[in-house]
Amino acid sequence: MNPTILAASPLNPLFVAELSKRYTLIGPMPLDDLMAHPDREHITVIAAGGESKVPAAMMDALPALKLVSVMGVGYDGVDVQHAISRGALVTHTPNVLNDDVADLALVLMLSITRRIPQADAFVRNGSWAKGNMPLGTKLSGMRLGIVGMGRIGQAIATRAEAFGMSIAYTARSEKSALPYRFVPSVKALAADVDMLTLITPGGASTHHMINAEVLTALGPKGYVVNVARGSVVDEAALVHALSNGVIAGAGLDVFENEPHPLDALRTLDNVVLTPHIGSATGATRQAMADLATRNIERHFASEALETPVPEC
Ligand code: NAP
Repeated sequence: MNPTILAASPLNPLFVAELSKRYTLIGPMPLDDLMAHPDREHITVIAAGGESKVPAAMMDALPALKLVSVMGVGYDGVDVQHAISRGALVTHTPNVLNDDVADLALVLMLSITRRIPQADAFVRNGSWAKGNMPLGTKLSGMRLGIVGMGRIGQAIATRAEAFGMSIAYTARSEKSALPYRFVPSVKALAADVDMLTLITPGGASTHHMINAEVLTALGPKGYVVNVARGSVVDEAALVHALSNGVIAGAGLDVFENEPHPLDALRTLDNVVLTPHIGSATGATRQAMADLATRNIERHFASEALETPVPEC
C-alpha cells in the first residue's frame, strides 16, 4: 500500500500530481480532523509550499514524523527547531528557481523606473493619440544595493552588471570572493544607492528590516524592490514614504498579508505590484515539484536527502 503523506496547506498542482503518482495524499485539514485520521500515527512526511505554515502542533499530531518537504526555497513558516527536536528533517528547493526570481527582480526594477504598467495602459486607453507619456527614469548605470547576497542575490547581481549598474550589498557576512562592495548596515547601504533590492529570507531576524529610517536614508530619488518576503518591509512605513515623497517608488512581489495587500498600496501610482510570482514559470515550478518529490522518495528509500535546509 502507498504511504500516506499530509499536505500542510493547498499545494501547487504540479507537486500534487507528482505526489499522487506515488503516495496517498491527504489534507490539508484542521488539527481536530488530523487527530481523528486513521493513518495519523503512521504518517512520516508532511508536504508543504514556500508559504505554508507547519507549526509545532501539526508536527506533534504525527508521532512518526521524519520529514517536512517544502516546495520552495523560503521555509519561514516551518518551525524548523521543533522539527529537529522531534528528530525530523526539513528540505527545501534551492537553486532551481534562482533565474526566475532574479529575472523578476529586474522586471520590477525596469517596470517601476520606466513606468511599464502605465505605458501599457497609455496605449490601450487611447491616451497616446493625445500626446506623449511623461519621461521615465534611466535604470542602466544606477547604483544598486542588494539586501541578501545569497544564491538569488548573486543571480540578480549578474543581471544588473549587464545593465552597467554598480553593485553593493549587505548580508550577515561579507563574501570576499565576490567582486561587489560589502556594506555591513542596511541603513548605510540605503544611503549609498538608488535602487534597494531585497532578497533575504523572512522570519524574525529580517522582520521590518526596511523601516522608516532606512527609507529616509534611501531618499526621494530612491526605489525599493522586494522579491524576498513581505515581512522584511514595514509596510505602513513604506506606504507613508511612497505617499509623501520620502522615496520615489517601489516594485513589490511579496506582501505582509498575502493575498490581501494593503488598499493604500493598491491605489498608489508609484508602485508596481505582482502577486508573489518570483518562481512562477511552468519549467521552474516543475523543477521545484520534482526536487521536493525526490527528497520524499529518498526518505522512503532511506537515502541521504538531496537538499536539507542549512539548520538540518
Ligand atoms: P540564500 O542563498 O540563503 O541567501 C539569503 C541571503 O540573505 C544571504 O546572503 C544571507 O546572508 C542573507 N541574510 C539572511 N539573514 C539575514 C539578516 N538577518 N540580515 C542580512 N542578511 C541576511 O537564499 P536564496 O535562495 O537566495 O533565497 C532568498 C529568499 O528569497 C528566500 O528565503 C525567500 O524568502 C525569497 N524568495 C522569494 C521568492 C518569490 O517568489 N518572490 C522566490 C524564491 C525565494 P549570509 O550569506 O551572510 O548568510
